[in-house]
Amino acid sequence: MDLGLRGKIAVITGASVGIGLAIAEGLAAEGTDLVLAARGGERLEAEAARIAEKYGVSATAVVADVATAGGTEAIIAAAAEKGGADILINNAGTGSNETVMEAPDEKWQAYWDLHVMAAVRLARGIAPQMKRRGGGVIMHNASICAVQPLWYEPIYNVSKSALMMFSKTLSTELIQDNIRVNCVNAGLILTPDWIKTAKQLTAETGGNWEGYLQAVANEHASSKRFGTPEELANVFVFLSSERASYCIGSTYFVDGGMLKTI
Ligand code: NDP
Repeated sequence: MDLGLRGKIAVITGASVGIGLAIAEGLAAEGTDLVLAARGGERLEAEAARIAEKYGVSATAVVADVATAGGTEAIIAAAAEKGGADILINNAGTGSNETVMEAPDEKWQAYWDLHVMAAVRLARGIAPQMKRRGGGVIMHNASICAVQPLWYEPIYNVSKSALMMFSKTLSTELIQDNIRVNCVNAGLILTPDWIKTAKQLTAETGGNWEGYLQAVANEHASSKRFGTPEELANVFVFLSSERASYCIGSTYFVDGGMLKTI
């Protein structure tokens, strides 16, 4: 299936590892040029160079903290330098660990800035570029936790839920400019971070990190396995394409059966 993504320009945040990196590779494999953002420059620049070489696309690395206005401005400027973006994937984000009773205001604010304000600021800066190019696609990588919370990360649950509603609201505003906005809610996706955590948690009890991950999958997902970053990236790539032209203002779950409601 030709997805018609060759020569398009995609901005992906949190693109140096895990899901963002898999989306970058998936789009590059379709011939899409890239603007990739993350805070850690070394890893990001190495991946951008590797992807450009492997797929014959251009890949610009922008070292930026998306939780700050300055960071998002740098990303918007890099996209403008390439002629403007056609695709924006707000992927940067991270889990949390706290209780509502103990977490200070500063922590709530930090996650609001990372999960919500980054998407608000990037939409404000990049949607006008898309409009000038005749339209575009914006996607938000929220989480199944936006609707089915995990007890240990209330700030993550709440901020991802806000991101999901932001996606819906933005969609209504931007469809008049031929910009399709959607949200993806993933379940358990096996990124290097999950492996690192599993190794840490099992280090003092025999080191069976694979057994730990299997137990997590058994508990949460009816498929009894984690998804791969590539399985999730495939959905982002499809939704980025004109093949998904009637997908507007929705949230798509990619969770191996983890969602407990209809
Ligand atoms: P990883 O921790 O593996 O990667 C996160 C990426 O985001 C890295 O490139 C990181 O680079 C970047 N990043 C983090 N904070 C910032 C910031 N402030 N500014 C710019 N870049 C940043 O995460 P995953 O791939 O696992 O997750 C990606 C997204 O998917 C997240 O939003 C997460 O909530 C969501 N998700 C993940 C699931 C999973 O099971 N893995 C399930 C559901 C949703 P650097 O640190 O160098 O900045």
